[in-house]
Amino acid sequence: MSGHTDMVLVDENGMRIDGRTAEQHRPFKVEAGVLNNADGSAYVEIGKNKVLAAVYGPRECHPRHLQDPTKAIVQCKYNMQSFSVSDRKRPGPDRRSIEISKIISEALEKVVLTELYPRASIDVYIEILQANAGTRCAGLTAASVALADAGIPMRDIVPAIAAGKADGHVLLDLNKEEDNYGQADVPIAIIPSTDEIVLLQMDGNMTREEFDYGIKMAVAGCHELHELQKDALKRRYSKKAQEGSE
Ligand code: ADP
Repeated sequence: MSGHTDMVLVDENGMRIDGRTAEQHRPFKVEAGVLNNADGSAYVEIGKNKVLAAVYGPRECHPRHLQDPTKAIVQCKYNMQSFSVSDRKRPGPDRRSIEISKIISEALEKVVLTELYPRASIDVYIEILQANAGTRCAGLTAASVALADAGIPMRDIVPAIAAGKADGHVLLDLNKEEDNYGQADVPIAIIPSTDEIVLLQMDGNMTREEFDYGIKMAVAGCHELHELQKDALKRRYSKKAQEGSE
């Protein structure tokens, strides 16, 4: 988010370097139930981001001092693989992955019916296999499908996407160059049935009008992504039903 580059991010026709218009998101792909040994799982691509999510639980919460006698806690571990970025990333947790794990856990706790499982933990593992800006959004999008795949009761499934600003233009779903050299990045996640925002971060600067416009675009993007999340779960359950009847 330097805001300074000689690179043209949006040309005079309003076209972005990957051929998108300002309001276009990158291609989405969502699959549910991709791992045999987790209680629930999902795979998501947002453009060049490739993300796996796996869920275990609800199960007894360890360490015990984290137990809440009134509800379950959602413990998310976001991990960026060494090979997910162009220069090998040092393995293991760092400040960024701890922050992302925390905000994703908080967003998911808004939709999971945690009060049904006192003292339990619902564990969510997010593995970033390939990163190109927007991994927290792809990770949260995958995690909520994995939770549904695990049969965990939720108010709704959560889609997430970023809006931002580059070359003075408000853009949907920033890619790596736009994120690195642009002026603002605003990832959001919503509860689609109410449009309630469960995650909102902002890096950089925008005017109030640009911010409002960016949020409007991101909410529309979230609704598109939500349709694909539902389709992935429907495919998963019709496959399960077929296997059951064979
Ligand atoms: P997000 O991936 O959610 O957009 P950031 O804005 O922090 O999160 O990161 C933007 C992009 O920068 C990432 O998607 C990734 O492509 C790249 N990136 C982040 N951390 C690293 C790292 N440690 N090494 C190399 N590239 C990284």
